Amino acid sequence: MHQANRRHLLCCGAAAAAGLFTALGSTPARSMRLMINDCAGALPPQLKDHPLLQRCWQDLDPAQLWDVHAHLLGTGDSGSGCRISAQMTQWWHPVESIRRKVILAGACVPADAPSIDRAYVERLLALTADFPAGARWMLYAFDVAMDKQGRPRPEWTTFHVPDGYASRTSQQHPQRFAWVASIHPYREDALTRLDAAIRGGAVALKWLPSSMNIDLREPRLRPFYERLAAARLPLIVHCGEEKAVPGAGREELGNPLHARVPLSMGVRVIMAHCASLGTALDLDQKRPRPAQAFDLFARLMDEPAWQGLLLGDVSALFQSNRRPEAWQTVLARQDWHERLLHGSDYPLPGVGPLYRLGGLVRAGLLVEADVKPLEQIRSHNPLLFDLALKRVVRHRGQALLPTVFATRRHFVIAQAQA
Ligand SMILES: [Zn+2]
Repeated sequence: MHQANRRHLLCCGAAAAAGLFTALGSTPARSMRLMINDCAGALPPQLKDHPLLQRCWQDLDPAQLWDVHAHLLGTGDSGSGCRISAQMTQWWHPVESIRRKVILAGACVPADAPSIDRAYVERLLALTADFPAGARWMLYAFDVAMDKQGRPRPEWTTFHVPDGYASRTSQQHPQRFAWVASIHPYREDALTRLDAAIRGGAVALKWLPSSMNIDLREPRLRPFYERLAAARLPLIVHCGEEKAVPGAGREELGNPLHARVPLSMGVRVIMAHCASLGTALDLDQKRPRPAQAFDLFARLMDEPAWQGLLLGDVSALFQSNRRPEAWQTVLARQDWHERLLHGSDYPLPGVGPLYRLGGLVRAGLLVEADVKPLEQIRSHNPLLFDLALKRVVRHRGQALLPTVFATRRHFVIAQAQA
C-alpha cells in the first residue's frame, strides 16, 4: 500500500475525511457509532405509503429498474472465495481496518455474524424486499490487482470477489440479481475467462483501473476489446478518483480520456459515477494540466463518435463529496439522460457520513420538506433512500428523467437467466 493511500478513508472528500480523522483521533468508539447506520428493519407502513415514495414510483416501470452498480463483499467464510485485504483486518493498519468496519457496518453486517459472506447477501436481499417485483441489482465481481506481467499482487488488492461467487449468488436469486464479471485483462487466460463469463450470463464486465492496475490504452487489450464489442457486453469502468478501493494506487490510470481506446473499437463503456470525483490530466492539451475528471467525462459525452457507445452511471453522484457543479450539470443536461443509468454503489448509501442532505438543500437541489422523510427511509432502507433521493433532486425544476431508471434495456441477459 502506498503511503499516500493510508490517508484515504472511505469515499469522503477532503473535508469529510478530515472531519472523520479528527473524530477518530480522540475517541474511536464514539466516532464509530456516528458512522454506523441504524440498520432498522423493513419499512413501517406509514413510511411505505409516504407521499414522497408514491412520487418516487410514479412513471417508473419496476421491470426496467436495474441497479447497475451494487457491490458484493465477503471474507470467504462461506467458501465464496472472497477476500478482504489483510491490512483491512489488522489493528496495526488502523485506517484500513476502520475502513473495513465502516463499510461492513454500512451494509449492516455485524462483526460477530456467524458468516460475513452470508450476512451481507441476506441483508441485501432483505432490502430488496421493499421494492416491487421486477427490480434487480447487478452484483459486481472484483478481480485481483496484477502487475504488468500478469502476476497477482495481493498487497495491492483491497478486496477480491471471484466471478464464480457473483454468478452463483445471482443464480440463487435470479428474480432479484444479475451479475457482472471482473477479469483482469493482463491474465494469461483473460479471453478464456471472458468467454466463460459471457456464456455464464454476465451482463457486463467491471474494471477499476487505478486500483487493479489496468492501462486502458495498452495494445495487448485489443483482442479483449474485440470480444467485448462482438458480444455487446458493456465495460463498466471506474474513472476519476476512487477512495473506497485504493488498491494499486495508480490514479493516473483512472483518466476518463483513456476510455477513447475501447470506445474507438466499438466497446460500449459505462463510466461509473460519471467520473464525478477528483481530477485527471487533460491529455488533449499541449501541456496537460489537471482538470476535473467529470469535465473530461462531459467532453467525451459530447463527442459525436461515442453517442451510441458511451454511458454513465449516476451512482454515488449525490454524495456530499461531489461538487455542486457536477450535480447541476447532470440534472440540466437532459440530452444526456438516455445515456445515464441508475446505480446505488451499494453498500455506500448506508455508510454514515457520505450523504449529507443539508448540502443538497443549500445547493438548491432538495427542498427542506423532503429531508426528514428521506432520512427516515435511509434508516430503514439505504437502497430505497438512494433511489428516492435521485427521484426528488431538481435543478431549476429539472429532474433526472424516468429513462435514467429504465436501465434494463442496456443489457442483454443470457436465455438461461432471463
Ligand atoms: Zn463502486
